[in-house]
Amino acid sequence: MLAGFIRLVFFFCLIYFAYLVLRVYRSATHPPKPASPSQIQGEMVKDDVCNTYIPKDEAIRDLRDGRERFFCSEECRRKSRAA
Ligand SMILES: [Zn+2]
Repeated sequence: MLAGFIRLVFFFCLIYFAYLVLRVYRSATHPPKPASPSQIQGEMVKDDVCNTYIPKDEAIRDLRDGRERFFCSEECRRKSRAA
């Protein structure tokens, strides 16, 4: 009776250990990804017209005088061109 119980506990410990090994193995091969890589690693650029910062991949680009400029909206780009 007691031996049966010990065997049962040992069996569950073995399963739990296997589960832990599997979890460590999976986290080692598949590292958890950051929630939003584009927001964390994304470069911020300045809109010189309204002085706000926007993510580079969301900004409106305009090449002028050989220099790339970034704007938050089409309106800001127009203002910059008018100036
Ligand atoms: Zn703007």
